[in-house]
Amino acid sequence: MLPADALELRLYPDPVLRTRAAPVVTVDEALAARVRRMFDIMYEKRGIGLAAPQVGVSERVFVVNLSGDPDMPEDEKVFINPEVRDAAGECTEEEGCLSFPDIRLDVVRPETVTIEATDLSGDRFTIEADGWLARCVQHEFDHLDGILFVARVSMTRRLMIRRQLKELEGRAEERSS
Ligand SMILES: [Zn+2]
Repeated sequence: MLPADALELRLYPDPVLRTRAAPVVTVDEALAARVRRMFDIMYEKRGIGLAAPQVGVSERVFVVNLSGDPDMPEDEKVFINPEVRDAAGECTEEEGCLSFPDIRLDVVRPETVTIEATDLSGDRFTIEADGWLARCVQHEFDHLDGILFVARVSMTRRLMIRRQLKELEGRAEERSS
């Protein structure tokens, strides 16, 4: 695995984004370093959540800080090997994704979720999330299963962003040639 400080944001259509991530086996200092790097990238790109596949690491970890503010580390949340226990209601909100620059989409999701996960101390915790936290954890959780938010919208919506997706695909080809 790459050292933590070599991790970089991966953009669509990087295949790692469509890969189902593997469970974390040990919570150790190397994982803590990757998590730190994920928060740093997230703040730099002005996001509020980031999943490990988005930095090229196919492991079941995501981070959230709804404030998006590096000066509010008390709001940082780390979810290792998360499981969604319960989901209820339904609501529509506009979402973005750091792996899809400039694309925003209305996505329908359950309004509240109960999520269980391990923290960096190795302890299991459960939270009931609603509002933006519920939205954010569901979006990040999807990343661990290789599900991208563009797959959560109607065909009509996807056709509307087809040009932007093509543009991202073109930029990826330029990078690799
Ligand atoms: Zn995302």
